[in-house]
Amino acid sequence: MKILFLSSEVVPFVKTGGLADVAGALPIALEHQGADVRIALPRYKEIKAEGNTAQIGKGIKVYFIENDALYNKDGIYVDGNGIDHPDNLERFAYYCQEVLELVKREGFKPDVIHCNDWQTGLVPVYLKTLYKGDDFFKDTKTVFTVHNLAYTGSFDENQWAKTGLDKSLFSIDGLEYYGRFSLLKGGLVFSDAITAVSPTYAKEIQTKEFGCGMEGILKSRVDSLYGVLNGIDYDIWDPSTDRVIYKNYSAADVESKYINKEMLLKELGLQTSIDSPLIGTVGRLAEQKGYDILADIVDTLCEMDIGFILLGSGEQRYQRIFEKVAKKHPSNTSVNLIFDADLAQKIYAACDIFLMPSRYEPCGLGQLISFKYLTVPVVRKTGGLADTVIEYSHETGEGNGFLFNDCKPEHLLSAIRKAVSVYKDKPSWLKLIRKIATYDFSWDESARKYLEIYDKILDTRY
Ligand code: ADP
Repeated sequence: MKILFLSSEVVPFVKTGGLADVAGALPIALEHQGADVRIALPRYKEIKAEGNTAQIGKGIKVYFIENDALYNKDGIYVDGNGIDHPDNLERFAYYCQEVLELVKREGFKPDVIHCNDWQTGLVPVYLKTLYKGDDFFKDTKTVFTVHNLAYTGSFDENQWAKTGLDKSLFSIDGLEYYGRFSLLKGGLVFSDAITAVSPTYAKEIQTKEFGCGMEGILKSRVDSLYGVLNGIDYDIWDPSTDRVIYKNYSAADVESKYINKEMLLKELGLQTSIDSPLIGTVGRLAEQKGYDILADIVDTLCEMDIGFILLGSGEQRYQRIFEKVAKKHPSNTSVNLIFDADLAQKIYAACDIFLMPSRYEPCGLGQLISFKYLTVPVVRKTGGLADTVIEYSHETGEGNGFLFNDCKPEHLLSAIRKAVSVYKDKPSWLKLIRKIATYDFSWDESARKYLEIYDKILDTRY
């Protein structure tokens, strides 16, 4: 089966979040199961690879779509001040059209084009409109995966002409979205199947609370809507082979995890005792991630007998709060307001407890990575977090982490306190981390599910 995989960011070339992790790993898992996969993404300034193609996996060709005027600038979606590039519509409309021209030139006739998020939303639309009579794509089907519905890729009506589409598509059944138009909606309406990145998120997005105004269209397409949990790439995320962390370890050698803890405390200049719990968080500083909930209790948290490390880049209002708390508690608090993949790996390895207080979380990779690094997650019960983290019971030993439900700071704090009290019971804690070490969130199972979905839509060929 020939798959063209489209994503605006792909590990190891360029990454701002989990989408890049997925796009760098799922194609390899699909290839592993026999699919013939190619990937295409814009050639941003950040991409260091030479030439206009690269390779990942055994033989997956990665195409970089070149257009200096559109892509050769700082920041992949936003500029240095966090403002969207004003030509984002041109940038991604060009990408969507160019990938179709590219595969034609290459003679790579995809059975399925797997699109991801709003940047790729015009591809299903183009196939069913501009390319409708094109013999090359007559058997091609599309899957559109929602990694985050809140990023709708919306633009003003006066920019419509840049889509190259007939104005009749600026309608409620087309791309129109509250007086503007949304590329994500294009993907939802015109694709042959829709997937969301966890079973719970697939249900949540059909509700008003999480649906971002798209719940109607999602409900109407429920027969073509699937929830497939993301995996993680254990070739990258594995403490027994990770070349970035201070010392490799596994469940059979937990002592070496504590060497990572000791070394990171030292590197970051923290005086936290090795016996006190080290609590970490890594993520985009955005409201979605619940950093406002954490901000409300972080001062109380840092007054406890713990160490706290934050790594995050994003909105300034959160940066200021966390900076302030780091100044107030310099001996046990380290706040790193940057994007730093190496430091992230060291944090997953060194910490005992990992925080993800997300308001919503389509899948979440942090909790899956932290399981692998024997770091116990404390999360809000939503989306993919609800699908993967089960409340730990100190009595029975069941469960694998700590959850809170309401977006209330005191509920987050009490979940953290619970985790800390179990941490202090060393035998129980060791048992818990030995259990999470046995989990398998690799891509094999999820890739199989995607292949089933591809098969299903290809069967409906007429
Ligand atoms: P999202 O895609 O919504 O940002 P995910 O949990 O799906 O959230 O994925 C986030 C990914 O990005 C994880 O691999 C996480 O480790 C990484 N990450 C987030 N922020 C940073 C940062 N400041 N530095 C390094 N890695 C980061």
